[in-house]
Amino acid sequence: MYSRTQNDNGSYNTRCLDCFMTVASCVETEKELDLIEVRHICPEKALAVLLEREKVIQSQAARN
Ligand SMILES: [Zn+2]
Repeated sequence: MYSRTQNDNGSYNTRCLDCFMTVASCVETEKELDLIEVRHICPEKALAVLLEREKVIQSQAARN
C-alpha cells in the first residue's frame, strides 16, 4: 500500500505505508509512480517473508 500526495506544482510524492519510507518525491506522472512503487523493495515486507519462511522451516523440522 502506498500513500500518494500531490505537490503544489502538480508533481507527486509516494510513501510506502508498510515501512513509512518516502519511495519517491516530485514525480511527474502517475504512470511513473506505478513504476517506482513496483520497484520498491520494502524492508518490512522482506522481513515478514523471512519470518514466514522461518516458521515453515521450523514446522517442517518439528514434523521430522
Ligand atoms: Zn516499504
